[in-house]
Amino acid sequence: MARRHIQPWWKDGILFTCLPNCGRCCDEPHGLVYLSKEDAHRIAGHHEMDTQEWLERDARQTHDGRWVLKSNGDGICIYIQDDKSCDIHAAKPAQCSAFPFWYENVRDDPSWRKTIGICPGLVHPDAILINGETIQAHLNADARAEQGFRNL
Ligand code: SF4
Repeated sequence: MARRHIQPWWKDGILFTCLPNCGRCCDEPHGLVYLSKEDAHRIAGHHEMDTQEWLERDARQTHDGRWVLKSNGDGICIYIQDDKSCDIHAAKPAQCSAFPFWYENVRDDPSWRKTIGICPGLVHPDAILINGETIQAHLNADARAEQGFRNL
């Protein structure tokens, strides 16, 4: 008997636009942004710094050794500005660029409802259709970044 391939619920796309100066996905306390090696090199380059020096200044290692972005005293990303813009927008980590299209968000209905509650860009009148292929690419980028790295 032929196996049926089950299509993901988002295969025909999702309406979304990221709103300037929103920052709701970044100013949640105790969020973890895992860095890929590419992220670390790109963001260090953005600061015109050596990658290892940048990691030691703006990142930290979790208990299992993976590098994540540092947070400030409130547990919020060090790069979010008072006006909620991102200080490294042009070079931001893959996980940030992929939001809201993370596996943990799209995996089931309650998770997606929660994501809609966080992200006003999913219900905004100017939202545009993000196609299934693009969503899959974001999901893959998020999964790759979450694997993280321990040594350059
Ligand atoms: S919560 Fe949504 S609209 Fe707001 S910054 Fe994050 S991705 Fe953009």
